[in-house]
Amino acid sequence: MELKANVPSGPIAQKWSKHRFDMKLVNPANKRKYSVIVVGSGLAGGAGAASMAELGYSVKCFCYQDSARRAHSIAAQGGINAAKNYQNDGDSVWRLFYDTVKGGDYRSREANVYRLAELSVNIIDQCVAQGVPFAREYGGTLANRSFGGALVSRTFYARGQTGQQLLLGAYQALMRQVGAGQVKMFPRHEMLELIVIDGRARGVVARDMVTGKLETHLADAVVLATGGYGSVFHLATYAKGCNGTAIWRSYKKGAAFANPCYTQIHPTCIPVHGDYQSKLTLMSESLRNDGRIWVPKMKGDTRPAHEIPEDERDYYLERKYPTYGNLAPRDISSRAAKQVCDEGRGVGPTGYGVYLDFAESIQRLGADKIAEKYGNLFEMYERITAEDPYKVPMRIYPASHYTMGGLWVDYNLMSTIPGLLVGGEANFSDHGANRLGASALMQGLADGYFILPYTVGHYLASNKFDKVDESHPEVLAAVAAVEERLKRLLSIKGRRTVTSFHRELGTIMWEDCGMGRNRKGLEAALQKIPALREEFWRNLNVPGSADDLNQSLEMAGRVADFLELGELMCLDALEREESCGGHFREEYQTSDGEALRDDERFCHVAAWEHAGEGRKPIRNVEPLVFEDVPLQTRSYK
Ligand SMILES: Cc1cc2nc3c(=O)[nH]c(=O)nc-3n(C[C@H](O)[C@H](O)[C@H](O)COP(=O)(O)OP(=O)(O)OC[C@H]3O[C@@H](n4cnc5c(N)ncnc54)[C@H](O)[C@@H]3O)c2cc1C
Repeated sequence: MELKANVPSGPIAQKWSKHRFDMKLVNPANKRKYSVIVVGSGLAGGAGAASMAELGYSVKCFCYQDSARRAHSIAAQGGINAAKNYQNDGDSVWRLFYDTVKGGDYRSREANVYRLAELSVNIIDQCVAQGVPFAREYGGTLANRSFGGALVSRTFYARGQTGQQLLLGAYQALMRQVGAGQVKMFPRHEMLELIVIDGRARGVVARDMVTGKLETHLADAVVLATGGYGSVFHLATYAKGCNGTAIWRSYKKGAAFANPCYTQIHPTCIPVHGDYQSKLTLMSESLRNDGRIWVPKMKGDTRPAHEIPEDERDYYLERKYPTYGNLAPRDISSRAAKQVCDEGRGVGPTGYGVYLDFAESIQRLGADKIAEKYGNLFEMYERITAEDPYKVPMRIYPASHYTMGGLWVDYNLMSTIPGLLVGGEANFSDHGANRLGASALMQGLADGYFILPYTVGHYLASNKFDKVDESHPEVLAAVAAVEERLKRLLSIKGRRTVTSFHRELGTIMWEDCGMGRNRKGLEAALQKIPALREEFWRNLNVPGSADDLNQSLEMAGRVADFLELGELMCLDALEREESCGGHFREEYQTSDGEALRDDERFCHVAAWEHAGEGRKPIRNVEPLVFEDVPLQTRSYK
């Protein structure tokens, strides 16, 4: 497989503007003749569908929720980065670019990251124009706060509901186009197969989740914006429905899957409290602006927090990373939390928790000020734990939160299947091996509002499209494959629920491919996952039928895909014999426990190619070159 990144030539700061000029345009009068399918209505998909429709293309947009505005982006709490430098504290496009390349531990594509930083400023203008109620200073200017991995305040926010407010902005734009007849929405529709004709993506097979009816939808291009696959860990901060099916089905049709092992374990989540928990809850990283993280210095100290005197507390992030302190990046903060808990200094009933303490900020700023900034997060915490974080420190622990891996895309966000473009968390993105906080919303909206509308147009203007209809053999084959799979899932009639398989897979992934990975664990996981998959197809029980609303059937399809994707993640983690960002191979660390990269052997993207059922996938490589931010050891000390 050839991986052509198609990065434009010229100085990095001019690449995108030059490229926009070089790309072909579609005559405005011809745009309505082209059709585009967008799968996903989150920030990336919603923004993309609305923007392409606004340009005049005929768009169909799919989501599995009952409304486009319930996409998982709605859960984002803390904020969105942009290099506006409103704080006058030294920010610039170049600094955001630099911070993001460094934050990703030099495993992202420089040109994409620069474009992201460049477009960040347009996003804020667009959203403000839409009426997104960003927090403001007393004088009316937009407020900012800090997020991990940066020494400037560049994060725009709307209390602890930034994703929701941004999504409402994108949703308004989308619904305007629905009203104008340019977008047709398909809520409660799950894409279960990609249709590829003559080597190009031409449509999808989707199941109407209410009636069970299978539908085919054909178009000139298909955009996937279906979010991340971190629910492979079962317990995660993702919504229960989040899944990897759309990208996994596309991988099996020829789209390369890049860096599947790069997953983000977020340091600030409410700890697991029982075996039968169905998901985990994030406490936004923004809380680390004012909360201090600590554990007792003494092992096995079970005294309540207020009885532990100041000199018996270990503010381990402030101690280890004096420059960045509690705002050290997520991969580093998560590993540090794991380390102190593994040492026996964790807090709470399980010992897998650390304190996030606001006592000092409440004393300094007053409870009112803290409530103004984080009120809804404090309320959420109290509802879940029955503890009042204004009075006792929060307890937090790392959890699966984001996936930096995803479908490989070139500079135009085109996958290795022509006509299949991928945006938002679903692509392998601009974040390298670790994503800095508040940059997923930035990437999703950059892709949706400002990149896909150009690159999709360029693709449409550069190609001729034969008419295809539902009788095409590839369409019939795709539908038959979906029918067959649903039938197979229903016919097993075994003894175990889908959730029990998902939970067991999640445990394997968390233990062997989580915050710390090693050869022995990964090799064991590569034995355990196929065995679990074999049992899944022999002993699963899916009640009901395919002709109706059937949530067990929906879950079964998604878990079947996770059982394959999880294996690829372990394989990727095994073959990447270095540590970088969120991928921490315990064999490869510095003497003080930091990630040890191997730039000689691994300064590349690993893009996996499906080689057929039962065959080992092929590992292709896109070399990464760092010209503007030269390779160096990442340090936050
Ligand atoms: C709790 C939480 C808080 C976060 N806070 C922040 C933050 O403060 N700042 C930040 O930058 N990032 C944050 N993130 C990350 C960020 O929210 C996500 O990365 C981002 O919103 C993903 O957007 P997306 O458009 O790519 O996907 P999503 O918003 O996940 O949307 C996916 C869409 O695809 C659809 N879909 C999926 N599969 C199918 C299918 N097979 N068929 C049909 N439709 C399908 C879904 O219905 C949905 O519409 C947070 C994440 C979490 C979990």
